[in-house]
Amino acid sequence: MSQDRRTAPAPAAGAAESPPLARWAPCPTCWGQRQIWEPEEASNGEGRVLVPHACPDCLGIGEVVR
Ligand SMILES: [Zn+2]
Repeated sequence: MSQDRRTAPAPAAGAAESPPLARWAPCPTCWGQRQIWEPEEASNGEGRVLVPHACPDCLGIGEVVR
């Protein structure tokens, strides 16, 4: 009884493989602007002004890990 089993060649140890474990993508919340402009009442009573706030989604990085 001949056992003709062909084993697949094992990949070389330490082979250069790209590990796409973490990918950085532009933050969908601030669109990579790192901050969000929100209208607020001006303290001097001039009406509404746009005030930049650090993006709470990417914490001001502009990119998020997916
Ligand atoms: Zn963001």
